Amino acid sequence: MSPHLMARLAQVKGLTLTLFFGGGGVMALVALFLPFSSAPDAVGGRVLFSLTAAMGLGLSALAWARPSLLLGKRLDELLMVMGSVCSLTSTLGETLLFGSQYSAMVLLWPMLLAAGFLRRELLGWQVALSSGCVLILVFVKSVLLTHSPLWPLEALITAVPVAFTGLAVSFFRSAAVQEAEELARLVRTDPLTGLANRRALFDGFGDIVARVPAGHRVALVMLDLDHFKAVNDQYGHQVGDQVLQCFAQTLQAHARAGDLLVRVGGEEFVWVTAEPHTDALLARIESARFAYASSPQARAVTVSAGVAHGMDEVTAGHLSDLLNAADAALYRAKAAGRNRTHVALRA
Ligand code: GH3
Ligand code: MG
Ligand code: MG
Repeated sequence: MSPHLMARLAQVKGLTLTLFFGGGGVMALVALFLPFSSAPDAVGGRVLFSLTAAMGLGLSALAWARPSLLLGKRLDELLMVMGSVCSLTSTLGETLLFGSQYSAMVLLWPMLLAAGFLRRELLGWQVALSSGCVLILVFVKSVLLTHSPLWPLEALITAVPVAFTGLAVSFFRSAAVQEAEELARLVRTDPLTGLANRRALFDGFGDIVARVPAGHRVALVMLDLDHFKAVNDQYGHQVGDQVLQCFAQTLQAHARAGDLLVRVGGEEFVWVTAEPHTDALLARIESARFAYASSPQARAVTVSAGVAHGMDEVTAGHLSDLLNAADAALYRAKAAGRNRTHVALRA
């Protein structure tokens, strides 16, 4: 999932948790002050509503004051259990304090909370938990109020819609997240070559440099096809596209896991990789250049390259400096006759 999407989901989750637990807590507080008649167990009802209010308002305040604590996935189990406990105490509280049973649908809320915001692996547990809560609620209500022998049937027809609604919401959530991830991937991909695009370079450079193995140094290589315009002029644009795809495939074949390959412009590419020594890096670049040149699909188009390597402690903020250095080296390679590699910074 893209960092932007994750941040947005965390924000929505934080607001939902605050409202969910806060709303439940406030409703329980209000219930404590409502007049009642014919209570089967007023003291039990008050105790349950007080518990709901304390748990709901406490969790809501925590979600508000320390969002990072509850927004991570570490506390999902706690939220799942607390959501179910709160809804059970409030529905049972209503039965004991008012003798009514209007709030069975409150048991749907933790199911929706889990389906919309908690880890997907917890959904099965939430179905079991919600079904258990429905069972307890219906059993207690039937025993206390109606003495109905049909309580197992009532439990079944209450639990099944609760579980199915949660599963349906979870299905739509997964579909929406997958669609958003696919869109996020597409806006960072060059459609012709399948390599990353300029946006992905600027967004992802920080992550790549943070993962550079110990003892290695970040290298930024800028590569440009020589006299590429002549291919378009001579063979047409479609053949020009094939030459670009052939070069991209050659780069992919020579890249290592963790490298970033970018088509930054028309026939201009950037290869971000890591090596301890510039000589080893140059050997890899020359190997890629010659492998490409020997392919019939290259249409005899050669490649020039400019290398920036050897800067200590590279961070995301150094991208422009490295691009400028590699570009200057590429310019020198072009000026010196093309089909060669020049180095701006070396280790
Ligand atoms: P140099 O050696 O100085 O780099 O010369 P060049 O001809 O490679 O560079 P120039 O910038 O003059 O021309 C680049 C050409 O790349 C011009 C443009 O039509 C072509 N081009 C850009 N994008 C695409 C594309 O997606 N497909 C094709 N077929 N051509 C493209
Ligand atoms: Mg060119
Ligand atoms: Mg160019």
